[in-house]
Amino acid sequence: MTPIRDLPRRDAWLAVRRGLGLLCPACGKGKILAGYLKPAEQCSSCGEAVGELRADDGPAWATILLVGHLVSPAFFVFVTSDAETGFRAFLFIAAGVIAATLLILPRMKGLFVGLIWASRAGEAKPG
Ligand SMILES: [Zn+2]
Repeated sequence: MTPIRDLPRRDAWLAVRRGLGLLCPACGKGKILAGYLKPAEQCSSCGEAVGELRADDGPAWATILLVGHLVSPAFFVFVTSDAETGFRAFLFIAAGVIAATLLILPRMKGLFVGLIWASRAGEAKPG
């Protein structure tokens, strides 16, 4: 078996761009998700085993980090507003958080799958 360091390098930026588009990091044609977040076992186009690339909690962490930084300034804008305006702002911001999270989370999963594929971390075996 060839050591990972001797295998050809993969383009991480290309894999990330494809992952953000929810496309296979290897060929850029097949889908990497079989559902909203459920990984496909393999690419429908090239057969790459993308289902073995486990992103674990990385996508959720990155989504919280990104959405939190995008939304938190809005709370400071309305902190001195009266109660009714503040409550309406809260409802508007909460809807924005939900929409942004639903939009960003699968793309973060694609990003992590792309990075794991490009780094060959999923191919590493203990020992
Ligand atoms: Zn593919």
